[in-house]
Amino acid sequence: MARHCLNCEGRDDLRRFDDETFAIEHAGLTATVDGLSGWRCGTCGEVEFDPVSARRYAAAGDDLVLRERARQSREIRRIRRKLGLSQIAAARLTGGGHNAFSRYERGEAAPLPAVVNLFRLLDKHPELLRELV
Ligand SMILES: [Zn+2]
Repeated sequence: MARHCLNCEGRDDLRRFDDETFAIEHAGLTATVDGLSGWRCGTCGEVEFDPVSARRYAAAGDDLVLRERARQSREIRRIRRKLGLSQIAAARLTGGGHNAFSRYERGEAAPLPAVVNLFRLLDKHPELLRELV
C-alpha cells in the first residue's frame, strides 16, 4: 500500500530512507543522531521516522532542552551570587514568586527571557543593580 505525506498530501509517494544522520539544534546547542530510518516525502521533504528512530530523535531533542536548561540554571545562579542577591531578593526583583529562583536554579522551571536578559545585563553592568533596589 502506498504511503502518502500527511504534511502536504503530495501525490509523490513517500520514499524509504535508512541509516541517515540528522542534526538537531536548540538554543545554539547541536546534537546529531545517526542510524535513523523512515520515510521522506518527495514533494515537501517532510520526514516520518520509524517508531524506534522517532523515539531516539525525540530523546535527543529532549536532552538538548535539558542541557540548555541546566546551562541557564548555572548562569542564573552564578550571576545572582555575583550580585550578592539571595534567591528571595532576586525573586522580589524579577517577580515570579518567592521560590522562583530556587526552581530556576534547580532546573525545575525556565525563567522568562526577560529575567535572563536582565541578569545578563546586570552581569555586565552590576552597578546598575543600585538603580533597581
Ligand atoms: Zn509532503
